[in-house]
Amino acid sequence: MTSNGSAVPMTKSIPFLDLRIDSEPLRTELLEAVQDVFRHGRFILGPEVQQLEEELGRYCGRAFAVSVNSGTDALYLALKSLDIGPGDEVVTTALSWIATANAIALTGATPVFADIRPDLNIDPDSVRQLISSNTKAILPVHYTGKICEMDEILEIATSHQLHVIEDASQAFGASLDNRRAGSFGTVSCLSMNPMKVLAACGEAGMVFTDRAEIDARLRSLRYNGMVDREVCTEPSLNGRMDTLQAAILLRRLKYVGPVIDARRRIAAQYSEHIARFVDVPSERPNQRDVYYTYTIQTDRRDELQTHLETAGIEVKVRDPILMPDQPAYRDGVRGSFPTAGRLIDRLLCLPASERMTPDDVDYVIQHIQSFFR
Ligand SMILES: *Cc1c(COP(=O)(O)O)cnc(C)c1O
Repeated sequence: MTSNGSAVPMTKSIPFLDLRIDSEPLRTELLEAVQDVFRHGRFILGPEVQQLEEELGRYCGRAFAVSVNSGTDALYLALKSLDIGPGDEVVTTALSWIATANAIALTGATPVFADIRPDLNIDPDSVRQLISSNTKAILPVHYTGKICEMDEILEIATSHQLHVIEDASQAFGASLDNRRAGSFGTVSCLSMNPMKVLAACGEAGMVFTDRAEIDARLRSLRYNGMVDREVCTEPSLNGRMDTLQAAILLRRLKYVGPVIDARRRIAAQYSEHIARFVDVPSERPNQRDVYYTYTIQTDRRDELQTHLETAGIEVKVRDPILMPDQPAYRDGVRGSFPTAGRLIDRLLCLPASERMTPDDVDYVIQHIQSFFR
């Protein structure tokens, strides 16, 4: 019997993610958006870019939103906009996609790696211990789509006069005490690459702030440090968003609410049936997670992965190496991350795309149950 009482199903193939756009109405709508851009021909900084900046700024409750061409650029330019560079330290988490550490290192600053808590987010106590006279900022990452302990992080930042740069790449639409991801940092960053909750059909990112001077600096930094198209005030890169991506994102933004609801339903279905066997993500009453990944923890991770893959279920070990343990960083790393070191080999991401049906989720549940029984 399955968890919902039906007979054992035939073998299925469950992809981890399916990024194809095969819904006919959505495809038509996105193609119309693309055609609008073809008609006006303003492929860079066209009207859709400005509209997306306004709508996302409103969504995240920020005065300014500056579109850029990836989440990585968003982080790098955010750090630059706060004058972070050589000699400075930025305290971040040991567990994230490597772009987080790379953005810090590329400014010339030094990433310092803090530990995580069992919820996989940065541990504020660890941050406190790592602050030095060189620390300029804290860079928390809302890992898996769960917002960090921002009350504590903001308190630490205030008491030490540090900036907070928020990496909200995995948490678009998540909230903490009804405050949305992207609303907490001096500067906040978002990726909208095709895997993210709000997904472009290519690379895209956004930077948020409430300060006009940072907004102006970001607009210059994302275009070769140019001011008024003639004067270059500092060297920088070209990191502007394509109008085509903005046009697509505007349409997709309309459906992001239902996407998040679907992901939350899938997470709830998993958690109800597998919490007896593995550690499942937990949510406090003041948290609303978006489950960018549904990440479980088990000491038998590798065996379970093989078992599920044999059943046609694609699972993923998302960031198998802690950032400070990467060859690019491991020599002379500053930080302390024992919990991250203990948990890193226990993490497994289950398929949790909003396109999965309850039967698909049930199929995965059954194979997890059969493994542990
Ligand atoms: C995806 C991601 C990024 C980078 O975003 P890109 O748009 O792929 O450059 C940065 N940080 C985290 C936590 C991410 O998940």
